[in-house]
Amino acid sequence: MPLTAPDLHAWIRAFADRVADERGYLTKLDSAIGDGDHGQNMNRGLSHAVDQIDDDASMSDTMRTVAMALISKTGGASGPLYGTLFMDAGKTTAQHDELGTPEVAALFRAGLDGVQRRGKAEPNDKTMVDALLPAVEALEDAAENGTPLSEAIQQAANAAKKGMEATTPLEARKGRASYLGERSKGHQDPGATSTYYLLDAAATAWSDRT
Ligand code: ADP
Ligand code: MG
Repeated sequence: MPLTAPDLHAWIRAFADRVADERGYLTKLDSAIGDGDHGQNMNRGLSHAVDQIDDDASMSDTMRTVAMALISKTGGASGPLYGTLFMDAGKTTAQHDELGTPEVAALFRAGLDGVQRRGKAEPNDKTMVDALLPAVEALEDAAENGTPLSEAIQQAANAAKKGMEATTPLEARKGRASYLGERSKGHQDPGATSTYYLLDAAATAWSDRT
């Protein structure tokens, strides 16, 4: 079965739960190369987003509600970036009643494009783009191969995890961590880590979807 609005709600709730569980870890990562607020920022924005979700809303209205909640409550660099991700991703759902692998690939591609338009980060700048881009590429490959959604989204989560881990040796070129120059090397990027949770939450929430 393809995705409908309740599946997006389940995904966003799973993402919020994961961030709440890992808040301390995200903050620890951000303390090493930033100002130590990424866990708090994301948790604040996502708890607000979950409170705002209307169980009867359409997919595109849900994504817009989440985007607005994140933009108004998250703060930091990540608030507007995740807000744009959900806003732009949500627009792709407007013309569909349900989403399969190709539509989910298009959704995350639009989210990535929004993040890059807003933040101007390129691959290997040590940002959330480094987790999101490989996930999008995995979904697009899966769409081309006719892979069922449950499998496609698990491949995307695995790719995001690898991308997240690969941020460790990089020197940051965007955001606060870039102020550290060479000293940003040797630490995993907090935003790439929360983006891995975004994909992993989808893999968990959609594990029986085609
Ligand atoms: P702040 O840096 O303002 O304290 P957060 O701590 O909430 O905000 O988020 C930091 C994360 O935001 C970084 O780890 C990085 O992944 C992401 N980030 C920062 N700037 C950019 C950018 N220009 N493009 C993409 N991601 C970025
Ligand atoms: Mg921070």
